[in-house]
Amino acid sequence: MEPIYLDNAATTPLRDEVREAILECWTDYGNPSSVHGWGRRARNRLEEARERIAGVIGARRRELIFTGSGTEADNLAVLGRWRAWRRTHEGAGAVVCSAIEHSAVLAPVQAAGREGASVLILGVTNDGVLDTGALEEALAAEPAVVSVMWANNEVGTLQPVRELAERCRDAGVVYHTDAVQAFGRERVRVDEVPCGLLTLSAHKIGGPTGIGALFVREGVELEPLVHGGGQESGLRPGTEAVAAAVGFARAAELAEREREAEAARLARLRDRLQAGLLARIPGAEVNGGNAPRLPNILNLSIPGVDREVLLMSLDLEGVAASSGSACHSGAVEPSHVLTAMGRDSEQATPLRLSLGRTTTAEAIELAIERIAHVVERVRALAGV
Ligand code: PLP
Repeated sequence: MEPIYLDNAATTPLRDEVREAILECWTDYGNPSSVHGWGRRARNRLEEARERIAGVIGARRRELIFTGSGTEADNLAVLGRWRAWRRTHEGAGAVVCSAIEHSAVLAPVQAAGREGASVLILGVTNDGVLDTGALEEALAAEPAVVSVMWANNEVGTLQPVRELAERCRDAGVVYHTDAVQAFGRERVRVDEVPCGLLTLSAHKIGGPTGIGALFVREGVELEPLVHGGGQESGLRPGTEAVAAAVGFARAAELAEREREAEAARLARLRDRLQAGLLARIPGAEVNGGNAPRLPNILNLSIPGVDREVLLMSLDLEGVAASSGSACHSGAVEPSHVLTAMGRDSEQATPLRLSLGRTTTAEAIELAIERIAHVVERVRALAGV
């Protein structure tokens, strides 16, 4: 049976061009901090990769800090910003984020809370878009950072990032946006959206795992989370992953070059998948379908099926999908994103299907058949 991978929001297959770029790097070696020829070659490769990624998002080379993941970049943005603020300010201080952030933002926000920050969580509408009304109140607290993602990883909804960034800039507050899911699918440019901090991750766009980046606009103060040498402007010490950075740069350029055509293709396939499944699965509902959303994510609520039984049955049927939210140590937790949208993810099981570069029209037709069949069977076995 031909397997169908519909979990591109979790990770994407490494692109051939990226693999080649990485392998080419790995035939050489050198520590970018060394002064000899090996070191200088490594340094040149690293800085060229940084320049190329910065170019894709309209940043300057020195404004891009490589990290070990998107998660680490989010932590550096939120916790690093909070700790830098606390160093120079009197009073309690606050950190602000939306209720639908990835745990890579929510967890450091909570950590800042344990370090004394007031935590303000902004709600979203039933369509999964930030309710900007609450922003003014949050800004009145003069927070160390406001973090609202560019696009949500569970339902794909796009957030009003330009408006948020402009409002925060005018209020003199640092705005961070997690663009991990948006990058390569939407136009993500820091010369158009005046954010102070922005997170990227390579493995969501056909690049390698183990590397992310944080855009840090000139003048934005951060406290490093890791202490060591002076690499990455002292913000992320540790010998740099040169090959991964080169792979990241290749993936970023390719994704950007193909972005518009690919987004249109994926949106057509996603719409077909949505229409096909709604027609075949009684009671299924789309989450986030009324808001502007990423072209590659479809999130459905399906009543009458157990979450784990559904995902495992789909896997057996050759469809790799996700419920969208993490299962921690085997325990199924309700989705905080759907809860924030006023949906009961315990009554109806969420199913996230995320498309990517390798998804074909044939695979979508096959996926509709297989998913509809699995839901029917799981429901029949449960006596629904
Ligand atoms: N932020 C969002 C919105 C994500 O979807 C993810 C990954 O799922 C991350 C952050 C974490 O990125 P990484 O896997 O590179 O740590």
